[in-house]
Amino acid sequence: MKANYGTYIPISTVDWYGKAAVVLFLRGCPFCCPYCQNYEILTGSDLVDLKNLQDKIESSIPFISSLVISGGEPLIQKNAVKELAKFAKKKGLLIGIHTNGFFPQVIEELLQESLVDSFFLDIKAPLDDPEAYGKVIGCEEYNLTLEPKEVIERIIKSLRIISKSNVDLEVRTTVIPGLVGSKQDIDSISRFISSYIKNRDIPYVIQQGLPENAMYEHLREIKPFSREELLEMAKAAHPFLHNVWIRTKEAGNEQVNFEFS
Ligand code: SF4
Repeated sequence: MKANYGTYIPISTVDWYGKAAVVLFLRGCPFCCPYCQNYEILTGSDLVDLKNLQDKIESSIPFISSLVISGGEPLIQKNAVKELAKFAKKKGLLIGIHTNGFFPQVIEELLQESLVDSFFLDIKAPLDDPEAYGKVIGCEEYNLTLEPKEVIERIIKSLRIISKSNVDLEVRTTVIPGLVGSKQDIDSISRFISSYIKNRDIPYVIQQGLPENAMYEHLREIKPFSREELLEMAKAAHPFLHNVWIRTKEAGNEQVNFEFS
């Protein structure tokens, strides 16, 4: 079997908080987010034997406890993801999947086969605003043929499926000035998440988008939100979700303590 390969990181401590992981980035994504930093692997073809990727996993094993499969959108390559997860499980690794939630059926299959320990799910914009969601995933800039309402339905389905399972879930929103990140956006996103999950203590991470690395050149001039602005956004999420984090270039991962805010 072959996989459409993007790139990899032999040892990462930032892709799964608290764990050392080998990270495989698979190529291809149905979205085209203007702020995407992995835009070089959204399209194209670099087919490699799975054996090649298994060798990469194997060579990191002395230093890691987990495999993270990222992208692009890795679940676009269902069979490759399953085989890589099976291989890594046999080697005693935990499996984490970064996903934009567009393939709920694949998530369901992975859960049925007990191939995942944690999902990291992007909720990119308010789920009650198809126009905003369409803008953030690039429907406007790149003339995607995706229907934002259908995209949202799929993401909600993914959220529900993972929430009902026993595997860990981290939900993430990347904030970028002019696209997403107002208090109203975070209020709406976190309100929606809380209405679809059974555990309000799941980590919700507000990530500082870094426009300097964005796919869309015009975004690269924009100043990113500051750490203080992200802390304000975290306050907007707090009434709905209890375990809120911010992730910034300057300070890394920080769990927000609301007792003193
Ligand atoms: S940021 Fe958007 S376009 Fe880039 S990999 Fe993630 S979902 Fe795909």
